[in-house]
This record gives sequence, structure tokens and C-alpha cells, in this order.
Amino acid sequence: MRRWVLVGSVPAVLLVLVALVITWRTSPSAQVSTTSRPPSPMPSTPPRIGADGIGDPYFPRAGDGGYDVTGYDIQVRYDPSPDRLEGHTTITAQATESLSRFDLDLRLPASAVTVDDRPAGIHQDDGKLEVTPAVPVRAGAPMTVRVDYAGVPSAIPGGPGVPSPWVRTPDGAVAVGEPDIAAWWYPSNDHPSDKATFMITAVVPDGLQVISNGALLGGPEPDGPGRQRWRWQESEPMATYLAFVAIGDYDIVRRDTRFGLYLAAYDRGLDPQVADAARASVERTPEILALLSGIFGPYPFRQLGGVVPEAPTLGFALEDQTRPVYSPTFFASGQDVTVVVHELAHQWFGDSVSVRHWSDIWLNEGFATYAQWLYSERTGGPSAAQTAAQDYDRHPADDAFWRIPPGAPGGAAEVLNNAVYLRGAMALQALRTAVGDQNFFASLRAWATERAGGNGSVQDFLALVKHVSGKDIDDVAQTWLFTPARPPTPPG
Ligand SMILES: [Zn+2]
Repeated sequence: MRRWVLVGSVPAVLLVLVALVITWRTSPSAQVSTTSRPPSPMPSTPPRIGADGIGDPYFPRAGDGGYDVTGYDIQVRYDPSPDRLEGHTTITAQATESLSRFDLDLRLPASAVTVDDRPAGIHQDDGKLEVTPAVPVRAGAPMTVRVDYAGVPSAIPGGPGVPSPWVRTPDGAVAVGEPDIAAWWYPSNDHPSDKATFMITAVVPDGLQVISNGALLGGPEPDGPGRQRWRWQESEPMATYLAFVAIGDYDIVRRDTRFGLYLAAYDRGLDPQVADAARASVERTPEILALLSGIFGPYPFRQLGGVVPEAPTLGFALEDQTRPVYSPTFFASGQDVTVVVHELAHQWFGDSVSVRHWSDIWLNEGFATYAQWLYSERTGGPSAAQTAAQDYDRHPADDAFWRIPPGAPGGAAEVLNNAVYLRGAMALQALRTAVGDQNFFASLRAWATERAGGNGSVQDFLALVKHVSGKDIDDVAQTWLFTPARPPTPPG
């Protein structure tokens, strides 16, 4: 993600109400009786009481660790006026423990849920949809969960006093956000550690277009009077927050490139000058990917492009997988190639290789910011070392900037703090200085290729750099990533 106002503000989407909710998940007694071990002293394991969630230290309520999603089949019908979304989403998953109950993340009201075609009990509260299957799901068993839901996404705030991340536009809407957006349009195990493939189908009024991730399988296709259906497929594993949909009156540009099919979409409602600047920037995507793939290794996906909705209140760009979404504000005063470089670098760092926990956000934002500096270095601008030194000098020792250590920013409100970006990029420059260019770039490439389609943590990356370089980087990592104070010298 890149915000156009970077300094000082906490993104609204992060002001998440964190509340402890007690959940009960029992292990079915049938599990015990099928084993050859001595019978349990109790007929069933007592209900487990605790905070729900997949175990993220910064977002303890996000997700559920009791199952692993393999695929989402999201089907929505959307009416821009009056902003009504009706959804039927089918989730295929595998239980990782015996489930007599499990949670999905969903903020739109659910009306019915089936688990393996049998009606399930539901209870919905504060973004968690608790599902009680008719029959408990055995550990290791596959399950198919269908959720019917409907509502007005823009009416559901992002938190107390925070607007909805579902943004209406003059001709439609755009669903884009980090870390919160999925629950406003589809039910999910909403955490980047549970990646899955996606089919995304949207039915909209005639004349509107639907843009999403990956390959366009079909559209527009007739779907009843006055309706058209668009079908998209992302067949590479994708984190839930990276699934997006943009609905509106778009001018779609397509062409073949060496990286796959390029498809970009520009809202026809954009101011003509803004539209021209947006095109001049986003249409450089293949050229920028050529440069970045020379540094980071092969582009990890088979589709590419970008979307610019008429949504000035969006205020940020997001690295939605294969097709970043850019707020038109980036192009209000002309071209902005830097933001395109940033979001495209995320295709390697954040999208293909995703964080294990949100506390690992340096692996996304530090790396994408450093990619901007590398782009400058490789295209005749200041070197990354020069940029790092300038940013170091710009922040005196008593600047609050230094209180956020990018390797462990401290909490949900700091995940997208400016220091995670800028000091995070300085930390990469410091590592580069410590291990040398050859080891540094070999480490970046190894990270991108070895973990493609998966996840990793800050400690995983540091272990890789140590392994590749054979050097002790503990001190430089401690100083630049984990110490809430200004390092004594610039990153070199
Ligand atoms: Zn970013």
C-alpha cells in the first residue's frame, strides 16, 4: 500500500476495534472413540475458551486457525444505486482440527450457511460469523461452506467513526483496503497466512464493467434482463485483503506482453487531465516489470495491469494481486511512476510472498519502498544509498519517527506507519552495506523464488540473508529493525 499523505496519520482502515470475544470450540467425542488409544477420562474434550482468531499478535480477532481455505468462489450481484450487494460465496477448505464450530470473517448480514450441503447454525457479531455445522467436521477432512448474505457495504463503518472501506464512486464502487476489506463483500478466513485461489463473479447492471484479479474468464455475459455477468479467476494463491473488485464505467485497455496479458482499466468519469496522467503512468507497467524482474527474478504472475477508479476519497494505492488499484489523487498533478514502481514491487514482496503475521509488514513496505530507491538508482537518479542518507538526515534523533522499529512496529495502529516504509527501506540499505551487493541481491531473489505463493516472517528473511551471505548480521538487524531509536550512523 502507498498512501499519498504519508506522514503522521494513522490510516482509517487500521482503527480496528479489538475486542475479546469468547468462543467455544469442542472436539467431537466421535474423534476419541475412533482411536485405539485408551478412552479419554471424559466423554468429550471440554469446550475450549479463549480469544478467537488465527493467532495474529496485532489482529487477534482476524481469521480462524481451525481450517485452511483452498478456494473461494465469490458470486455477488451489485446495484450501485442504492449500493446493495447480494452474495453467495462458496468456500472449500480443510479442517486442521476437529470442528464443532468455526468462524468466518463477514460484516454483511448472513442469512444462511450450509456446510457440506447441510444447513448450519449461525450467529453473527462484530464481523465474526460463527458457524455450527450440523455434524462436526473431522480433523483433516475437506469441507464446503456456502454463505448467503446481503446488505449495503458502504453503510458498514471501518470502525468507530471510520468510513466504510467499500468506496462508492459516481458510477459504481471499489472494494480495496489493507488489512480490512474482505469482510465488506465476502466471507473469508481473513488473514494473509491463509492464502487461496479465487473465482470472482459479479453481476451488475448493463453497461457497467467489473474489474478484478487475475484472468478475465468471461464478460460481459447476459444474466437476465438488464444485467451482465463478469467472471475473473486468480489461480495463484492470494491473501484475502488482495482480492478486489472495481465496478463502474471503465475504459479497458488490453495487450499482450512478455509477462502475460496486460489489462488496465480507467474510470470514464476521471477528469481528462488526470486520466491522461494516470495512463501515462500505469501504461508503463510492463517496462517497470522488466526492470524489477531483472533485480528480483521472474515476475510471479501471468496477468498484469492496473485500475484507476474515480474515487478521490480513496487516497491510497494498493497492490491488489496482478492489478494494483490507484487513487486518482496520485495523478492529480501529473504522472507518478514512483507509485507504480511501489505497487509492482509488492507483486513479489507482499503478494507472491506474503507476511506470516501483520507484524512482518516490513517485508512488504520496506521492500516496496526500497524498490523505489532501486528504480531511481537504475534509471539515472540518486542511488539508494544517497536516498537513504537523505532520509536519515531529515529525521533528527528526537524525531518520533525513530520510535517505531520497522521489524516489530508494535501494534495494529503502527502497521502502516511511515517508519515501516522509510526506516524499513533504510534497514535494507544497511543490510546491503553489511553483506555486499552480490549477497544482498541474491538474498532478495532467493526470498522471492523459494517462497513464491507462500508466506514468511522477518526472522525467516534474516535467516536467509545470513545463510546466503555467511555473515553475522545480528547487530545491524537489531539496530535497524528492532531498536526504537535512531541508529548512530546512516545506513551506508
Ligand atoms: Zn506498499
